[in-house]
Amino acid sequence: MGLQLAAGAVVQADIATATLVFESRRRRCKTRGYLANKTYWMTVTDQKPPSTAIAVLRGALGRCPCCGQGRILHRYLKVVDKCSGCGEAYGHFRADDAPPWLTILVVGHITIPVVLALEQTLDLAMWVELAIYLPLIALLTLAVLPRCKGVILALLWAMKAEGSEKM
Ligand SMILES: [Zn+2]
Repeated sequence: MGLQLAAGAVVQADIATATLVFESRRRRCKTRGYLANKTYWMTVTDQKPPSTAIAVLRGALGRCPCCGQGRILHRYLKVVDKCSGCGEAYGHFRADDAPPWLTILVVGHITIPVVLALEQTLDLAMWVELAIYLPLIALLTLAVLPRCKGVILALLWAMKAEGSEKM
């Protein structure tokens, strides 16, 4: 049994899922494949896929790791089902707790030096410290969290993860 792609190429259906996904990333065009009762959206063109570094950078900017044009998130943290630019599917990826953990890592490394520097140089009242630190941490967290989610989704995409969300 073969899977007919828009470009005329045929992917054998008895190959492993990972190979099918790999093939779909190598040549991009919009088509849908069915294999083992699962649906895979495939995009096939002659373009070479971007490097992992470029994909991660695009994800950090909230853009599609594949084309860099469409957005990967909508309504702050919701993952788009498909890229509006190239049609690449993202709705099946689950980032789980990775973006919050990465956010804690990033925000912690930014705020802790600021807190330590202020503690050592200024003798501020507790309420002043709280008035500085709490908004700083809250705003940084809100700004960094979608970036981290974009990075994790881009890594999942670049590593050709299967994804576990139903489409
Ligand atoms: Zn795209």
